[in-house]
Amino acid sequence: MKTVLDPEEKALRPRRLADFIGERPFLKNLRIFLEAARQRKEPLDHTLFYGPPGLGKTTLAHIVAHEMGTRLFTTSGPALQRPADLAGLLTQLETGDVLFIDEIHRLHPSIEEYLYSAMEDYRLDIVIDSGPHAKTLQLRLKPFTLVGATTRLGLLTAPLVARFGIAIHVEYYSKAELTQIVLRSAQLLNISILPSAAEAIAQRSRGTPRTANRLLRRLRDFAQVHESPIIDEALAEEALAALQIDPAGLEEIDKKFILTLIDRFGGGPTGLQTLAVAIGEEAETLEEVYEPYLIMEGFIERTPRGRRALPRSYEHFGRSIAGRSPTLFR
Ligand code: ADP
Repeated sequence: MKTVLDPEEKALRPRRLADFIGERPFLKNLRIFLEAARQRKEPLDHTLFYGPPGLGKTTLAHIVAHEMGTRLFTTSGPALQRPADLAGLLTQLETGDVLFIDEIHRLHPSIEEYLYSAMEDYRLDIVIDSGPHAKTLQLRLKPFTLVGATTRLGLLTAPLVARFGIAIHVEYYSKAELTQIVLRSAQLLNISILPSAAEAIAQRSRGTPRTANRLLRRLRDFAQVHESPIIDEALAEEALAALQIDPAGLEEIDKKFILTLIDRFGGGPTGLQTLAVAIGEEAETLEEVYEPYLIMEGFIERTPRGRRALPRSYEHFGRSIAGRSPTLFR
């Protein structure tokens, strides 16, 4: 589950669509959908944001409510244990309010079924008692917007996905976009940083704004202790090395993925299930959360026969391909 946000991270969250960094086609579309809903004085259609963690899905849920001028209520799939939890939230909603369900793939199936009529007809049919005395209580709801977020689209049931009018894939950020995010965050946190140092952070942020912001704050600690008034490239490089941040931003699971592929399976191709067992992770998590970045960055590829390590993986970890020096593959 996601860790609780500290106030500083909250302060960095863009509030308006205009502050959301990145040139994404979906931003243009979202702007149109929001504008159209506002003109019709209707709530925005139910919206699903999916993609790896830390890329801005929660931020977008907040932006939707802000742009619609309505309130946002937040919960998460695992927090909704009983139908009454859901009913308690839904009945508080006024017209146009946004209910944000994070980790919506972790909703209990029985709760999910209640959501169907709530989303479709703004109605909640609660069954009270069971057996021959079972009664259904029908609650009318105000028209609202459900915003769901998930890192695991594949785990959502088809009936739930079908009830979202808008589904948006949030993808990794380029180095240039992350540099912009670091510079914006630095300004908000009153940190002096040179663009070249911001770029060094971006390089190691694994395409992820949350990581970029976290590294920026660690570098601020280094600058403070070194009594350096500004974070320049030299300080950034030194601090990032001291923090033992992988030069390409790879995390433990990324490293395990690549090294298992190379050291245990001769670089592949290896089936995803086999790899997942060897690494001790779920295949779906590898596929939806880790692989997209490794593929985008040219560390691995998906082939019909399984996953294969690419030369960049060998170079990065100083392994040689079939006894040859990795430099041959440059
Ligand atoms: P998710 O819900 O996808 O895990 P969040 O919405 O919590 O991710 O985003 C993590 C942090 O990254 C936010 O606090 C925000 O500061 C920052 N962030 C994410 N996307 C952007 C963006 N496009 N522009 C600027 N900051 C962003």
